Amino acid sequence: MQIAANNPNRKSWLNVADNCDFPIQNIPFGVFITKDDIITIGTRIGEFAIDLGAFHQLGYFDGIPLTDDMFMQDSLNDFISDGRKTWRLVRNRIAEVFEAENASLRDNLKHREVIIFDVNEVEMLLPIQVGDYTDFYSSKEHATNVGLMFRGADNALMPNWLHLPIGYHGRSSSVVVSGTKIRRPYGQTLPNGETQPVFGPSKALDMELETAFITTDVNNLGEQISIDEAHDYIFGMVLLNDWSARDIQKWEYVPLGPFLGKSFASSMSPWIITMDALEPFKCDGPKQDVALLPYLQQKTAKNSYDIKLQAAIETENGDLNLLTTSNFNYLYWSMSQQLTHHTSNGCNVRAGDLMGSGTISGPTKNSYGSMLELTWGGKEPITLKDGSTRTFFNDGDNVIIRGYCKNDKVRIGFGKCTGKIMPPMKPKQK
Ligand code: MN
Repeated sequence: MQIAANNPNRKSWLNVADNCDFPIQNIPFGVFITKDDIITIGTRIGEFAIDLGAFHQLGYFDGIPLTDDMFMQDSLNDFISDGRKTWRLVRNRIAEVFEAENASLRDNLKHREVIIFDVNEVEMLLPIQVGDYTDFYSSKEHATNVGLMFRGADNALMPNWLHLPIGYHGRSSSVVVSGTKIRRPYGQTLPNGETQPVFGPSKALDMELETAFITTDVNNLGEQISIDEAHDYIFGMVLLNDWSARDIQKWEYVPLGPFLGKSFASSMSPWIITMDALEPFKCDGPKQDVALLPYLQQKTAKNSYDIKLQAAIETENGDLNLLTTSNFNYLYWSMSQQLTHHTSNGCNVRAGDLMGSGTISGPTKNSYGSMLELTWGGKEPITLKDGSTRTFFNDGDNVIIRGYCKNDKVRIGFGKCTGKIMPPMKPKQK
C-alpha cells in the first residue's frame, strides 16, 4: 500500500508555518484532554490538535474498518495493536480530509468546532500505556566514553558490545509525558575518597538524549522474529530523556546494571511520529566493525534515519543554553537489530512496549548526549549564558530535547521533550 500521506506537495487548508514540525505530511498520534475534560486520541497539523474521536464519530473514517470507540481512549495501545495496514489507512484518510482542495470538513464549521482545537488549549497526556520499557545502549561513542570514565581505557568497550545490542529492562511506571516536573531523587552513594556510603539527594542528576520506538504486538512467548520482518512491528518514535543519577548509578551498578539511578523518571515527547512519516529520511547507519551472527545480519545498510537531535538547558531567567547537537544516525545498532535481538530468546514484545535507543552521542564533544560526557565526569564544567556553571543539573533547570528531520521538500519534527527539575522531597527515612 502506498503511503499517500507522505506526498510532499500536499498543502493543508489549516495554516502551517514553514519551519513547523507538524506539516500535513507528519500526522503523528497522541492523546490529549480538552478544556471540556474530554480525553481523546488525536493528531496534529501546524498549531492545531485534531480530535480523532470526534472525527471518527462524524464519519470521516467511513469505509475504514475501525471499532466505534477506537479513538475515544486514553491510550493508543488498541490502535497500535491493529497493525500497519490500519495505521496507513488512517494517516492517508487524515491527509485527504485536510488537503487544501477537500471541502468536506473545511467548509463544515459545526464539525470543525468539535474536531479542531488550538494546541495550546489542550493538555497532552502520555500517549501509550507503557507495558514494558527496555533501554538499549546502542551508541558506540557513548558506550566508549562511559567505559573510559567508569572502567578506564583498557576495558572501555566490553568484548560483547560489538556482537549484540546491549540493553536492560527499565521501569515503565515512571515513564512520564513531556512537561512533567522531575523530582531530584534520593539515593545511596559512595562519595569520592570515602569508604562508607551515604544517603541523600543525588548530586549528579543527568539527562540521556535518546529516542525510543514503540511496538505493536510482535511475537508470542517462545517465538522469535526475523531481522527482515522486525521493521513491520515498529509503530513510531518519540524523543526520550532517560534521566540518570550518576552518583547513585556509579555505586549500585555492579554487577547487575542500572537500578534506582535510572528508575525515578524517564520523559517522553507526547506525539508519536510514525515510521511511515519518517520513511523519506532513511539513511545508512554506521558500518558495523565485526561480522555478526546471521540472526542480526541485515540485507541493506539503509537501516537508520537522519534525525537531528539537540538538548538545551532553560535556566529560570529564561535563557536557553544549547548543550549538544547529535543525530539518530550515529547509532551503531539499528532498531530492527534491537527488536530482533530482544525476541531472540523467545521473550514476547507487546503493543505499547517502549524501546529506548540509549544515549545518542556523536564523535565530537559538542555532540555528546549526556552531561556525564559533556563535562567529562564533572571535571570540565559548562558555563551558561548567565555566568553560572553546570557539571550536572541544578534544581530549577528545564531540560529541553528537540528532534526533527528535514530535506529540501519537507520537515518532519518531534516537537520537544521537556522536564524541569524540582528540589528533592523531604526524606521519610531517618
Ligand atoms: Mn538510557
